[in-house]
Amino acid sequence: MPVELIETPQNEDLLRRLIDGSLPDQFGRYGMFGGRFVPETLVPALERLEQGMREHMDTEDFREELRGQLHNWVGRPTPLSPAPRLGDAWGAEVWLKREDLAHTGAHKINNSIGQALLAKRLGVKRIVAETGAGQHGVASAAACARLGLPCRVYMGEIDIERQAPNVDRMRRLGTEVFTVTTGDRTLRAAIDEAIRDWVSDPKDTYYLLGSAIGPHPYPLLVQRLQAVIGEEARAQMLAVTGELPDIAVACVGGGSNAIGLFHPLLGDRSIQLLGIEAGGRGNALGEHSATLSHGTPGVLHGNYSMLLQDANGQVQETHSVSAGLDYPGVGPEHALLKTIGRVQYGVIGDDEALDALNECCRLEGILPALESAHALAGARRWARENPGKRILIGMSGRGDKDMPTLRTLPI
Ligand SMILES: *Cc1c(COP(=O)(O)O)cnc(C)c1O
Repeated sequence: MPVELIETPQNEDLLRRLIDGSLPDQFGRYGMFGGRFVPETLVPALERLEQGMREHMDTEDFREELRGQLHNWVGRPTPLSPAPRLGDAWGAEVWLKREDLAHTGAHKINNSIGQALLAKRLGVKRIVAETGAGQHGVASAAACARLGLPCRVYMGEIDIERQAPNVDRMRRLGTEVFTVTTGDRTLRAAIDEAIRDWVSDPKDTYYLLGSAIGPHPYPLLVQRLQAVIGEEARAQMLAVTGELPDIAVACVGGGSNAIGLFHPLLGDRSIQLLGIEAGGRGNALGEHSATLSHGTPGVLHGNYSMLLQDANGQVQETHSVSAGLDYPGVGPEHALLKTIGRVQYGVIGDDEALDALNECCRLEGILPALESAHALAGARRWARENPGKRILIGMSGRGDKDMPTLRTLPI
């Protein structure tokens, strides 16, 4: 596994521009990836959103309001927990960035409350969102309730059956859950339907997208709202240990918690960065959702990135025991970071993730989300190859939501 950037002047330049903010460029491109592949009717809405980000996000007023909601309602800063018993077991020094302790149980709330605040300033009348496992739906429902915005969440029929408790939570929070019976009846179809709703009324409706994917400027917007994870973790590591970690590890579905942890660390070249994708049951197409490791370039949901597709360009079904990683695409910034070699990406299957989840429960008294367990397993594997190192792990969420799945699996 290469530790260093693949050192060409071109890659150095791309990394420098990611760090100084001149990437994505004016077309929303991250090198060859990203962009805006949408119907003509959506272009003005995306331009308004871009304009709104420029107008509001850097003002002291907006930042103050966001800071207030993050502190008083989300519960930030989230702790950085030492994990000494995991450390002993792995032969490493282990630190956990505890997004599982954020309100509604995962990092997704950072993005939802931020976008809802922005939507309010853009003067929209209603919010639409999509959800797969229901985590982004719950976070958006909570944020919309908090800010008094009506919200509709699109969710596939299959996911509605699989994730009944989250459907109830959304409804209890005042959100309308709309059943999607078209397409694959899971997350991919839900995103299609949310976009369709938005196209029909792009002025008064705001589409609250849940990961670092989609057409420009969404990947940038989500990265900026999730960067609080890496900014806090970096400062906390320095405050507590006086040092930066040797490596930071996070799981990658669409890529929002990972880019939130990684982006603020990109310039710290001593820190290795490792993203972990879901290997599911095996390497065959349809058995996993390891997009960066096994995918090929293509367009999905408005951006050009890596994609799980067959030889005819048909997007493929995916599998992972963790619903939050079960998506056939990935954010364009990750595609670029892999291409230039600044971040390495590994794959962890269902069984190894479950084993890491059980270990974390027993040794640290923390039940991680199945998604986060992939990061734990990836970190453990790395620790065995690189003894005695300081490891920072993004604990993207808590596992309470996974109890219906875990009940069927061995302890
Ligand atoms: C949704 C989710 C993920 C995957 O989404 P990303 O956008 O890749 O972060 C990971 N962990 C948890 C707990 C989630 O809910």
